[in-house]
Amino acid sequence: MIVVMKPGSTEQMVQRIARRIEEMGLKAHVIVGTERTVIAAIGEKRNGEQQTLESFDEVEKVVRILAPYKIASSETKREPTVVRVRDLVVGGGDVGIIAGPCSVESEEQIMLAAAQVKQAGARALRGGAFKPRTSPYSFQGMKEEGLKLLAAAREATGLAVVTEVMTPEHVGMVGRYADVLQIGARNMQNYHLLQAVGESDKPVLLKRGPSATMDEFLLAAEYILDQGNKQVILCERGIRTFETHTRFTLPLATVPYLAERTHLPIVVDPSHGTGIASLVPAMCRAAIAAGCDGLILEVHPDPSKALSDGAQSLTPSAFAATLTECRKVAAALDRRLP
Ligand code: PEP
Ligand code: MN
Repeated sequence: MIVVMKPGSTEQMVQRIARRIEEMGLKAHVIVGTERTVIAAIGEKRNGEQQTLESFDEVEKVVRILAPYKIASSETKREPTVVRVRDLVVGGGDVGIIAGPCSVESEEQIMLAAAQVKQAGARALRGGAFKPRTSPYSFQGMKEEGLKLLAAAREATGLAVVTEVMTPEHVGMVGRYADVLQIGARNMQNYHLLQAVGESDKPVLLKRGPSATMDEFLLAAEYILDQGNKQVILCERGIRTFETHTRFTLPLATVPYLAERTHLPIVVDPSHGTGIASLVPAMCRAAIAAGCDGLILEVHPDPSKALSDGAQSLTPSAFAATLTECRKVAAALDRRLP
């Protein structure tokens, strides 16, 4: 249920109602909006709570949330959620650009990549230190050593760092180096991991599982939100279909669909979504035209030498050219792209 407070309700009044909600055995999430404050009351439905809450003077009305995801739903919060970290802004009309190699491979590689993507206009550096690889024989990432290199690249460039965390035990460690915790597609329904990043104070970039429905995707986000972390960025990175000409199939209808149902920002990953570098620029333009709040792109100083995902990685010059075109699309739609 959403408990809509009357305009001008004080912090004290909000807390009093939140306490009453908790006494009913429900969880209270206070959401302060520009116009009014609402409290999402989450838990098993019983009888009578709606009437009880409606009887308080400071409560304007109580409405049921129809979507299975409650805190993520735009029924609960209409204003878009904007995630800001360092100079990266995702949502609310700003198109955030996150770019970098699939994996951190060496100090030289990540420092060069960081300088190159920054020069072209990226505001955040991506790079995996813990890599979820299909084969146990493939490069698994530089682990904590790689995280240290990412932190050094941030130090040198000022870029925010986005990197994947694969297990609940590593959330604290990865969080010490990262600005944004990435949950990989393969882990979208790893509920203990979702809860662990939900307890973190770092924003989370949640990738859609290749076979997850929209409801499953939003319920995965709900796990994070329910733990108190409200800074969740959704990422469409392509799904598995019968089609084999691309690595995955990148469904851009996800962008307007999610915009109708959630206040959370949505970024698109055309690198994993296509698996083919030459297809990436057009899908970036299309994603921005569809209204996405950001792009996450694989860019490598020399894709032919990449230890992972070289075929889908842009060269630094192709990345710069892609952003130049994306800026035109963004400008046509009154969206800001750095
Ligand atoms: C990645 O970002 O390099 C990655 C492994 O992505 P995904 O989880 O979408 O496959
Ligand atoms: Mn990759």
